[in-house]
Amino acid sequence: MSALAQRITEIRQHLPESVRLIAVTKQVPVEAMREAYAAGVRDFGESRIQEAELKQTQLQDLPDITWHLIGHLQNNKARKAIEQFQWIHSLDSLKLAQRLDDLAGQLCRQPQVCLQVKLLPDPNKYGWTVPELLADLPTLDQCKNLQIQGLMTIPPINLDSSEILAVFQRTRELADKIKQQNWLNIQMQHLSMGMSADYQLAVQSGATIIRLGRIIFGERML
Ligand SMILES: *Cc1c(COP(=O)(O)O)cnc(C)c1O
Repeated sequence: MSALAQRITEIRQHLPESVRLIAVTKQVPVEAMREAYAAGVRDFGESRIQEAELKQTQLQDLPDITWHLIGHLQNNKARKAIEQFQWIHSLDSLKLAQRLDDLAGQLCRQPQVCLQVKLLPDPNKYGWTVPELLADLPTLDQCKNLQIQGLMTIPPINLDSSEILAVFQRTRELADKIKQQNWLNIQMQHLSMGMSADYQLAVQSGATIIRLGRIIFGERML
C-alpha cells in the first residue's frame, strides 16, 4: 500500500461510517489524485474552476468521481460551476444562490449545495452571518433547482480548540433550528465542516462531511 493510501485508510478507521470524506486536491497533481482514487476516494474537492476543469479532463477515465466546489465562486463562473460540480459547498450569498438556481434550471441540473455561514465575524471569509442567513431563508426556499443540503463553515484562524469546538457546535445548533422551521426546499441533513487541523472536533460536533487536504497529500506549495 502506498504511504498516501495508508494515510487515507488510517483516517477512515477513526471516522464513523456515516461521515463523508472529501479529498481536497487544490494544487495536488493528478498522479496523487489517482493514488487516492485507488485507495477508494470518490469525492474530490477543488477551490478553483479552472484547475478543476483541467483535472477533470485528465481524469476522464475515472467516471464515478463526485466533484465538490469548496472555494468562493465568482458570478461569471457560475455556469461552469453548475456544469462541472455535483456539489457546491461555498454558496455564500443570496445573489449567487439565485443566479445558480436560474442556471441550474436552464441546464436541467439539480446541484447539491451547502450554505456557507460565519458563526464569528471574519473579514477574511465569505458567507452569511447568522442573522443574515435567517433573514434570507424565505427567499432561499424559493430556489427550486438547488438541493440545499445543509451548512458549511470554516472557523476563523487562530482559535484554540475549545473555541473551534464552540463554532462547530453552534453551527450544528443553527442547522437544527433551521430544520425545525420545516422549509419546503431547504434540507438540513448535512454539515460540511472540519479540515486537516480540526476535523476531529467537527466530527465530534456532528459533521457529516469533512474536507481534508494537507493531512492526506502533505503541505501545499504556495
Ligand atoms: C483548502 C481547504 C480545505 C482543506 O484544508 P486542509 O487544511 O488542507 O485540510 C478545506 N476546505 C476549504 C474550503 C479549503 O479551502
